[in-house]
Amino acid sequence: MRLLIIEDETALAEALAEILKQNSYTADTVFDGLEGLEYARTGIYDMILLDIMLPGMDGLTLLKTLRREGNHTPVILLTAKGEVSDIITGLDAGSDDYLAKPFSTSELLARIRALSRRGGQYHDQELVYANLSLNQKTMELSCKNSSIRLGLKEFQMMELFLANPKQILPKSLLFDKIWGMDADCEYNNVEVYVSFLRQKLNSLDTDVVIKTNRGVGYSLDLKSDENKE
Ligand code: CA
Repeated sequence: MRLLIIEDETALAEALAEILKQNSYTADTVFDGLEGLEYARTGIYDMILLDIMLPGMDGLTLLKTLRREGNHTPVILLTAKGEVSDIITGLDAGSDDYLAKPFSTSELLARIRALSRRGGQYHDQELVYANLSLNQKTMELSCKNSSIRLGLKEFQMMELFLANPKQILPKSLLFDKIWGMDADCEYNNVEVYVSFLRQKLNSLDTDVVIKTNRGVGYSLDLKSDENKE
């Protein structure tokens, strides 16, 4: 799951990113409203943490702009003390939740989990498809009685597959979600990590496989379906 932090207090923004990374999320930080809007418009984020008072464009205008453009990425507003009227305006403008600064790490993480559950998405502790399950706290992939702990990138990729079983995920979407749009890495990382995951699925002896849809992308499917082809 990839989050965008738009917050001009750089120390706070960086601390938030660090906390999120420690909890197996991916996070990008921007310190300016206009830049934040450009990042948010890419559509690669699963959630946005948005400050209200920002240089360039304030958080409420940014939020209204996104919603008007049909972008429904869940947003948690980060508000300073005494901005109660901003909270109400923010909820009216399409924010999903808010946190008043200063807030505790555990409260932030709880709000993120609650909001991602509401969206029917992931980070609900366990994702299951057929006889395969992924624990989102321990990053362990399991089948029957065996399990394997995944590396962070493998975990993020498997999370996307398990949240969208049988759907073709384009290679570009996997790349953007996991490595980000300005990452310094090779596009064929996607293939490399798919092959790592295939080896792990194989060693777990599960019925679940990652199918290649030539020229399009990959999909999580059942072995029996693949054999019929
Ligand atoms: Ca601010």
